Amino acid sequence: MKVTEHISNAQGTLISFEILPPLKGRSINSIYDHLDPLMEFSPSWINVTYHRSETAFKKKVDGSFEKVEVRKRPGTVGICAAIMNHYKVDTVPHLICGGFNKRETEDALIDLNFVGVDNVLVLRGDAAKNETVFEPEPNGNAYAIDLLKQVTNLNTGIYQEEDIREGFRTNFCIGVAGYPEKHFEAPNLETDLSFLKAKVDAGAEYIITQMFFDNKKFFSFVQNCREAGINIPIIPGLKPISNKKQLSVIPRTFHVDIPTQLSLEIMKCKNDADVEKVGIEWLVSQSQELKKEGVPVLHYYTLGKPKVIHNVVKAVM
Ligand SMILES: Cc1cc2nc3c(=O)[nH]c(=O)nc-3n(C[C@H](O)[C@H](O)[C@H](O)COP(=O)(O)OP(=O)(O)OC[C@H]3O[C@@H](n4cnc5c(N)ncnc54)[C@H](O)[C@@H]3O)c2cc1C
Repeated sequence: MKVTEHISNAQGTLISFEILPPLKGRSINSIYDHLDPLMEFSPSWINVTYHRSETAFKKKVDGSFEKVEVRKRPGTVGICAAIMNHYKVDTVPHLICGGFNKRETEDALIDLNFVGVDNVLVLRGDAAKNETVFEPEPNGNAYAIDLLKQVTNLNTGIYQEEDIREGFRTNFCIGVAGYPEKHFEAPNLETDLSFLKAKVDAGAEYIITQMFFDNKKFFSFVQNCREAGINIPIIPGLKPISNKKQLSVIPRTFHVDIPTQLSLEIMKCKNDADVEKVGIEWLVSQSQELKKEGVPVLHYYTLGKPKVIHNVVKAVM
């Protein structure tokens, strides 16, 4: 079922979770171990992230270095199929521009359609670790909107091969990312919003936001979106803080602020167990307020913290 159908059929606020594929070398059971305790909350769907390969230099026996491409977390398409089969729950695979050309993306979309996935979240991805700015692949998509248009084309039967213009029409429901505190490369909030509006005009059906720790920023983002004529569902992305290092890692990695009150409380903590408690309390109160304000879905980035997320959702439901 499509994300938009889940939302329009809902009586109240829904729950969804986001997971990462396991590191290469681990089994699908690590996904089940992660998700098993969270399934009691009947999530409407599970998002599965997508990861580009990274360039690494491996030392050879003669002392020289060999350049190799390593994808540390493969398996997004297979994990979606496995989750749907194992739990009978919908999945939302992420698709990214970075590291993929349009034909590879098309093949992934065909696989997703064949295994019965109805949704995709289309993203640009970040620059590769050895690049300072994002560089698309040759014949790849440069921005999320270009990838989005590739999916809407496939939804109308237009494939990359020039002789397939009336092929099988997929029917993917397409989501995009939004940034309450602005995407870090955008010159200002207004410009970022205008690119978000362009994604919506091109066919995006819902938005999932970057994490935020101050609900005021989310509410103001939603208001700005509505004033700009963006009328599709906006789903808040939520993440718990569970250790002191995150006070600097989260702003550096995700370009979001930690509110003063939260950072002061975390700095007072004696150990990470105390930080986890503070992080849970903060996220519970954020979630309760968002629910009260009638957000369509609470979307949790579970990222290796299923027990913490379990405690949060238990308190919110
Ligand atoms: C909910 C969510 C899930 C994510 N999942 C993943 C994942 O699974 N894998 C992964 O690698 N990354 C993931 N990311 C990270 C994401 O890929 C990065 O934040 C990336 O830097 C931007 O992606 P985007 O889709 O927002 O890009 P875009 O919408 O393409 O925007 C990128 C930047 O370009 C600007 N821009 C947009 N269109 C244009 C244009 N036409 N001309 C000029 N500038 C333009 C925007 O303002 C922005 O600054 C996720 C992010 C979020 C919020």
